[in-house]
Formats: sequence, structure tokens, C-alpha cells
Amino acid sequence: MSRFNVQSVIFWPSHSTNPITLPAPIINQLDELTQWVRQQGQPPFRVRQVIKWIFENRAKSFEEMTDLPKSLRVALAQHYSLFSVRIAKHEVSNDGTEKLLVQLFDGGLVECVLLRDGDRRSICVSSQVGCAMGCVFCASGLDGVMRNLTAGEILEQMLSLQRLLPEDERISHIVMMGMGEPLANVENVVTALHWASAENGLGISPRRITISTVGLPPAIEKLAELDSRYHLAISLHAPNDELRNQLVPVNKKIGIAPLLEAADFYFDVSGRKLTFEYVLLAGINDQPQHAEELSQILYGRTAILNVIPYNPVEGLPFRTPSSETIARFREILESKNIVVKFRQRKGDKINAACGQLRRQKVQQLSSLS
Ligand code: SAH
Repeated sequence: MSRFNVQSVIFWPSHSTNPITLPAPIINQLDELTQWVRQQGQPPFRVRQVIKWIFENRAKSFEEMTDLPKSLRVALAQHYSLFSVRIAKHEVSNDGTEKLLVQLFDGGLVECVLLRDGDRRSICVSSQVGCAMGCVFCASGLDGVMRNLTAGEILEQMLSLQRLLPEDERISHIVMMGMGEPLANVENVVTALHWASAENGLGISPRRITISTVGLPPAIEKLAELDSRYHLAISLHAPNDELRNQLVPVNKKIGIAPLLEAADFYFDVSGRKLTFEYVLLAGINDQPQHAEELSQILYGRTAILNVIPYNPVEGLPFRTPSSETIARFREILESKNIVVKFRQRKGDKINAACGQLRRQKVQQLSSLS
């Protein structure tokens, strides 16, 4: 079965009523490539060469694919585009974090980030333009969702970040924690991750790939059915429904209990330890009683609690708690034997929290028009 949807890219420039057909992005057509190569009168191993150039040799053009006949390189460039996205902005932080604002063929903007930590080279990738979940503290959902990304657009973010690394360094980890709700676009995310983890793709072990979700139970079950090799991180952010309904409005339609049931199901199917994420918001979900309630929820589960200090978003009223409050929160959880990790804040100087860079750009653009 084909893992990629065939898509020719059509867009309408604002000054014209006629659509222009651009060469289709090759990354969305890898399964069809064998047939196309045969039509060019070339042997099937050419497909392997092209795939190797894209994923392993980090080619930036077809021209660079020097072990292909010149005529094939020309035909490839006429028929396909190697990248359908354009880098609209590239920011580098002095802690080694780099962030790309990526412009899609239709003008949509998404963000992705490269984080350096010791030997780790982790990337954070978006799954949608905007987000429909409406978490009140998050920049990504402030303007709703525009559309799902294609599998190719998800992969192109990975390839763009890979090309920022020196030749002797590789991406070691992927987190689907950029803009959007990955499980609202589960099929394309799974297709992209197939290539991210494939031997002839980016070759990243599935145990180093994490899908972060607000927690949509039917989609968690779907993921378990499609591909359960990846880690699942569930954005809990509150220990009871009353508070979660306020912070993560989609919870009103779900509820924590059914969410935990779906998470347990994924754990049973995948055998992968679950992660629960918890953004600490000063005075809102950071009090001792919240830590107590949270420990009751997590107790007995094979899970890690990942506590994230809030990365303030301009225009939103939320704040990061004081270090004393954070320490007290941590002590309570540890005293209940909950495995807690406190995530370092990296890249906040370059607006590395999801949705922030795009929002800045969209605001700049709208102030120009
Ligand atoms: N939709 C997915 C991916 C979102 S981004 C999800 O809900 O998991 C990954 C994590 O960052 C989520 O837990 C999200 O709630 C959190 N997050 C969003 N904005 C943040 C901010 N400003 N500071 C810290 N964490 C944030």
C-alpha cells in the first residue's frame, strides 16, 4: 500500500485566475518514483540512489546527485521539486538552539527547532498550520488551525533541520512537539515518521521519537493500530477535570479518565513507557494540592512526569512560577515516588515555544498590510 498521497502542487497567485502547477515535491512521491524511473528508461536502483541523496547525503538540489546520469538529473528537476518549502527565517540562539520558520507552497507558516544538548541533536517538528485545540497558554492555537501538513511537509522540516548540522553529526531524537496536534493529523504523521525511522530514510530509532498529544482517545487508538513503535507524551497540564477544562478546553469533550484509559491502552500495545507533560503556570496549577492530586493519578502507572516551566507568550497573562514553588512541587511528587523530570528551558530567547515565531511573523506581515 502506498504510504504517500500523490499530490501535485497547485496554487493560485493573487494576481491571476489561472492556477500554476509547480513540480510535485519528490518527498510526497517516493512510492511512485520506481514507475517514473522506469518510464525514463532507467534501472530501478536509481530510486535507491535518489533516496540516499535525499536522506543520507543531504542533497540540496538534483544537480548534486552526481552518480546519476546528467539527463536523469535534468528530468528529475523538471518533474519534481526537491523541497516544496522555503526557509522564511532562521534564528540561532547562543545555547546552540536553531529555529526555522518554514513557508509552505501556499504561504502557510510553520516552525521547527534543532536543540543541541551534549551529544543529542533533537528536533521539534510541526504537524499542522496553527492548532485547533485552543490550550489557553499556548501561542500555536491563538488563531485556530488552517490545515494539516502533508507527510512530505513534515519530512521537509526534518530534512531542513538535518541540513543545519555538520556532515559528521546526525539527528538523534525527534519530538512531534511543534505547532499543531499530531494526532489530529495522525496518518500523515505516521507516514512521515515511517521515513524518519526507516533504514533508508533518516534511520532514527523509534525509541527516540516522541509524539506529543493533547490526548484524543480515538486517535490514540488509531495510532496504536497504525504504528505503536513511538513514545507517546500526553499533555495533561492539570490534575482534575475542572482545571483541565479551563486550560485545555478540548478536555470538556474528553475528560481525564477516558484519556488515561486510552493512554494505558497505548502502553499495553506498545510497551513504551508513557510520558505525561505538565506546564507549570504560576498560581494556577503549581500548588501543593495539585502535586498531591497529580501523584494520585500517576501512581502505579509506568510513566514519567515531564514538568515544563512556562515559556511566557506575549499578550497572554500566564507566568512561570518562582524557583521555590517549582522546588516544592517537585518535592511533593518525589516524596510519592513519582518519576519526575524537569525540562530545561532552551531557546526561549528565540521564541522556541511552539507557535511564537510564526505569530511574530504573522503580526509583522499584518502590520505591513
Ligand atoms: N498538540 C500537542 C503538541 C503541542 S507542543 C500537545 O498538546 O501535546 C508540546 C508541548 O508544549 C505541549 O505539552 C504544550 O502544551 C506545551 N506548550 C505550549 N505552549 C507552551 C509554552 N508557552 N510554554 C511551555 N510549554 C508550552
